[in-house]
Amino acid sequence: MIKLHDKYFEPFLNEAEIKAAVKKIAQEIAADYKNEVPIFVGVLNGAFMFVSDLLKEYPHPCEVTFVKLSSYHGLTSTGIVETLLDVSEDIEGRSIIILEDIIDTGRTLQKLVHLFSKTHVKEFKIASLFYKSEIYNGEYTIDYVGLEIPTKFIVGYGLDYNELGRNLKEVYQLNQTNMINLVLFGKPGAGKGTQAGFLKEKYNLKHISTGDVFRYNIKNGTELGKLAKSYIDDGDLVPDEVTIKMLQDEVEKNQDAAGFIFDGFPRTTAQAQALDNFLESKDMQVNATIALEADDEILIQRLLERGKESGRSDDQDENKIRNRFDEYNEKTAPLKDYYQNQGKFHSVNGIGGIAEITERLGKVIDEL
Ligand code: AMP
Repeated sequence: MIKLHDKYFEPFLNEAEIKAAVKKIAQEIAADYKNEVPIFVGVLNGAFMFVSDLLKEYPHPCEVTFVKLSSYHGLTSTGIVETLLDVSEDIEGRSIIILEDIIDTGRTLQKLVHLFSKTHVKEFKIASLFYKSEIYNGEYTIDYVGLEIPTKFIVGYGLDYNELGRNLKEVYQLNQTNMINLVLFGKPGAGKGTQAGFLKEKYNLKHISTGDVFRYNIKNGTELGKLAKSYIDDGDLVPDEVTIKMLQDEVEKNQDAAGFIFDGFPRTTAQAQALDNFLESKDMQVNATIALEADDEILIQRLLERGKESGRSDDQDENKIRNRFDEYNEKTAPLKDYYQNQGKFHSVNGIGGIAEITERLGKVIDEL
């Protein structure tokens, strides 16, 4: 086991396994390009070791250059990718082979394809040393694959965790045994978002609020936002299939998290089951569901106050608020039994000072 920053990683692939994957790609490309001189384009920073070792295995004449992209992860990591080092101009009419260290969701790949579609190359192919087939969106064909790997966060051999680990000769995967995943449970206005803000700092967790993700998407006019808007405006739940998919995407985008706080999810039994199955497929689990309990009339007053400040339309209309409570009582309240049956349900008094309530929650978490 090794430690990088705050996290522990365990061995996943040794040098021989990596070398075999690199060699396999080199041979496949060599067979296809023996009659011309291709230009290899490495994608910095992660691919530098792969590029170096691949070229050493490549038996025919070839050229090499690099591009660099940068991805920014905002609230929902919409995957806005920016070019930092563009392709050189003398690639016109040539065959390009893009060398990626890893392809997971495919967002970076999409940007690369756009980048090369603008050029006048003869053709471009994509080679990736590692490939997470379970989460790849499948938009483009990946022409050469070294190894298919499970959806785990990995470092080493060029890949980093916050810039550390690139120099490792082997590949390591995140050890998740110390991970804590919490579900914050409670009616609208119970203080889930406020408390999550404190808990995520205290326990170094990633906070995922499905309501926030929906609002972000509505604000940015995305397809998801358009889909969700009418439900949210009426205080109804957004359909499970949409919400479950979105939640899974948010978890996938944060594979290096030390744990998650799910806020506003699950809200139905189908969502809770989907969450259990999904987490299990990643060797993860919900460790505890903590309910913030408060009286309806207090909550309605809180929401109306919040609505004045935030401008959230679903917080400004008492009828919509009551509808959200009805949705909660009908669809979300049964989850108490679901988690009680798993021995994971905890309840905390949600009335009092903010710090006082954080302390109550902390007590439950520290005993896990
Ligand atoms: P919130 O900010 O958690 O109060 O969520 C605001 C609105 O987003 C809800 O009233 C629903 O319309 C929608 N929403 C948020 N989370 C979910 C979920 N897990 N399932 C369905 N709809 C949701």
